[in-house]
Amino acid sequence: MSKKSMIAWDTSLQPNYGTPRLNLARGKGAYLWSDQDEKYLDFLSGIATNALGHAHPSIIKAVSKQVKTLSHTSNLYSHPQVLELASRLQKLTGSDSARVFFCNSGAEANESALKLSRLTGRKKIISTVGAFHGRTIGSLSMTGQESKREPFEPLLGDMDFVPYGDLKALEKLISFKTAMVIVEPIQGENGVVVPPDGYLKGVRELCDRYDVLLTIDAVQTGIGRTGLWFGYEHEGITPDIITLAKGLGGGLPLGAMISFKEQFSPGQHGSTFGANPIVCAAANSLLNELEKHQYLERVTFLGEKLKKMIVEVSGVAEVRGRGLLLGIVLDGPYANEVALELEKARVLVNAPQANVIRIAPPFVITEGDIRKFVKKFEKALEAARGA
Ligand SMILES: *Cc1c(COP(=O)(O)O)cnc(C)c1O
Repeated sequence: MSKKSMIAWDTSLQPNYGTPRLNLARGKGAYLWSDQDEKYLDFLSGIATNALGHAHPSIIKAVSKQVKTLSHTSNLYSHPQVLELASRLQKLTGSDSARVFFCNSGAEANESALKLSRLTGRKKIISTVGAFHGRTIGSLSMTGQESKREPFEPLLGDMDFVPYGDLKALEKLISFKTAMVIVEPIQGENGVVVPPDGYLKGVRELCDRYDVLLTIDAVQTGIGRTGLWFGYEHEGITPDIITLAKGLGGGLPLGAMISFKEQFSPGQHGSTFGANPIVCAAANSLLNELEKHQYLERVTFLGEKLKKMIVEVSGVAEVRGRGLLLGIVLDGPYANEVALELEKARVLVNAPQANVIRIAPPFVITEGDIRKFVKKFEKALEAARGA
């Protein structure tokens, strides 16, 4: 970012994100260009969001057509795009009883699940240590990360946190007073932490025992990111609520809360922009592309390939994750340095933990992009370890 842009940022925006190092001007596929016209390989996709990369022709076409036709209706009215999208999502869940509420972000989707859980007449919520569910007071209250919570306390009461992956701890806490258990299939923000096999199944069984709503926060893992539609299907479970955002809008802001049992009554919840026609058109176009070109199989294939290659790099302790959501665990706390070195080599990733690099490339990357990434990653890690 130029000195001038940096000053413009610092003197007009809230400092909550810090000052970014890059000012991005445009994108195409898996590549981004800065305002200095430097070309970057995007291995982060706007944090697991731009599944089809940047400026995908189908998304451009769908959005352009929709903005010319009808751009906003409010929820006093229906429109064709929302009907199509809700029915598509319902089909993907495999259940006719799925009912969708659309909003604009992951935090709002989880906020909606939280409100819905109150309608059970119970108040207690169980979440997991290290979880990330959003930044609004409700979703932050369910977020198991002390540094994010602490400045904003007191948050909502009746919240308990159990270690992620620990069924015994959950069994001790859960009761007929619990309204909802909320859990991510993979803790993305916490550094792509994968629970032991059978964990989600065990959580499901405990929720069934006490008639507790199970919410799967698939905001980061959903819409094909892990090679599955929502990130939990490999355990063969059915949640009571699924929350989505990030990848859902094809790069536009869209969130959804899908519930199978509990439902809001008229007037109990809403969002002015939720299910906006333009955003729904983008999502319909995205789902169309993903299905038509069998992208989920591609995600699985490319993810396996990446994993195999990265694990061989000296200095890598472990590669965890599924599909194209991977956490590269380093043998020391130099993830920030590696991310910086990669940025210098024109590759974008991020470091959610001191020893973890997260990659979430768009599904449109080629095997050539993968080889390029691994080569540059190897060099970056070498430089960071040597420093
Ligand atoms: C990003 C994320 C959220 C919050 O989504 P926003 O759109 O930033 O509000 C919630 N849950 C998970 C698992 C996420 O990764």
